[in-house]
Amino acid sequence: MTNLIIKQQLQNSAEHFALIRRDIHSFPELGGDTLRTAALVAEMLGSWGYEVHTGVGGNGVVGVLRRGNGKRSLGIRADMDALPILEKNGLPWASQHQGRMHACGHDGHTTTLLAAAEQLAHTAEFDGTLNLIFQPDEEGLAGAKLMIEDDLFGRFPCDAVYAYHNMPGLPVGQAVVQVGGLMASSERVTITLTGRGGHGAMPERAIDPVPALASIISALQTVVSRNLAADEAAVISVGMVQAGSAYNIIPETAKLMVSVRTAAPEIRDRVERRIREIVEGQAASFGVKVDIDYQLLAPVLVNSEAETERMRATAQKVLGSENVLDKMPVRLMGSEDFAWMLKARPGCYFIMGNGSGEFTGCSVHNDHYDFNDEVTPLAAACWVELVEEYLWKG
Ligand SMILES: [Zn+2]
Ligand SMILES: [Zn+2]
Repeated sequence: MTNLIIKQQLQNSAEHFALIRRDIHSFPELGGDTLRTAALVAEMLGSWGYEVHTGVGGNGVVGVLRRGNGKRSLGIRADMDALPILEKNGLPWASQHQGRMHACGHDGHTTTLLAAAEQLAHTAEFDGTLNLIFQPDEEGLAGAKLMIEDDLFGRFPCDAVYAYHNMPGLPVGQAVVQVGGLMASSERVTITLTGRGGHGAMPERAIDPVPALASIISALQTVVSRNLAADEAAVISVGMVQAGSAYNIIPETAKLMVSVRTAAPEIRDRVERRIREIVEGQAASFGVKVDIDYQLLAPVLVNSEAETERMRATAQKVLGSENVLDKMPVRLMGSEDFAWMLKARPGCYFIMGNGSGEFTGCSVHNDHYDFNDEVTPLAAACWVELVEEYLWKG
C-alpha cells in the first residue's frame, strides 16, 4: 500500500478516532489502575482480529498480529495513564473524574496506536509478527518495568521496540528523531543520618545530625558545578528535608530526599560516585552514621543507531524531510520509563509536535493541556509505514 493511500485512509478515520481519544480523555485513570482504558483497547483490538493478551504486568495489554511465516518481529508501545491534576480548560471532553486528568497526552498515544492497529489489520502487507504494547503507569515510571518483569519480551519477542511522545510548542506535522540519549535518567536518593538525640541546651552530650544535613545540602551543589564539564547535563534537587520535633530537642535522625537527573549513562555513574563520596565524607566529619538508598527509577533513554535511522527514514517519507529534525532544540531533562524497554531491546523513541494552540501548546502536566487530534492520523501513518517497512514481504 502506498504511503499516500495510507495517509488518506487514516485522514478518513481521523474524526472517528478523535471521538475515541476524547472518550479516553473524559475518563482518565491513574498509575497502574488503567482498567477502563485497557478494556476499551482490548475490545477494539479483538474486533479487528488481533490476538489479545490482557493483564500483562498488571493492566497492560498486548495485541499480536501475524502475517506470513516471517521470523521478524516488531513492538510498538503506547502509554495509557493520566495524572492527579484537576482539569481546568473547560473543554467539552474534559475529565469526568474529579482530580484526574490526561495532561500528558497519553490518551493521544493510545488512540494513535489504535488508529494504526485498525489500518494495519485491514490493509497492511507484511511478513512477521507485530506486537502492540499498551502500558499502564508511565508517570510513576513503573509500568514498563512491570511488563518486562512479567516476561513481556519472552512472551512477545520483539527484534526492536518503538514509541513516541507528543511535544507542545513544536508544530503539528513536525517530528524529532534523535540518535543516542534523548531523555534523562531519574533517581531518588534517600539519605538518613543518625546521631544521638539530646537536650538543646547540652549539645556536647549529643551527636547532632542537623549540621551534617545542612553541610551535605551545600556540598551537593558542587557536584554539577565542580565535577561536570560545562556541556555535561545533570540536575540535583533536594526536594525533601526532615528533622526534629521541637525547638529545644536535638533529634536523633535527619533525612534528605534528593531527585537526580542525568543526560548520559557515564554522567550518571560519575554523579552517583560523587554524591556517595560527599555524603559519606560529610557524615563522617560530623560523627554521624549514614545510610544512602539510591534508587534508579528510569535509566537514560538511549535510541540505538540503526533503528533510529529507520524511524527517521519512515518519518521523512510520511511527513516530508524538511519536517523531521534530528536533534531536540532544547535538552530534555524529564524521564520516560520506555528507557527500560530500550535497555532490553534496540529501538527508538521519537517526538511529534502537538502545535501551539491555547490548550495544545501549553506545557504538558499543565491543568489546561490537551492532546491535538490532528496528530493522530500523522503519527498513526508513521506507525503503519514503519511496520510495512520493518516487516516487509519484499
Ligand atoms: Zn507526563
Ligand atoms: Zn507523558
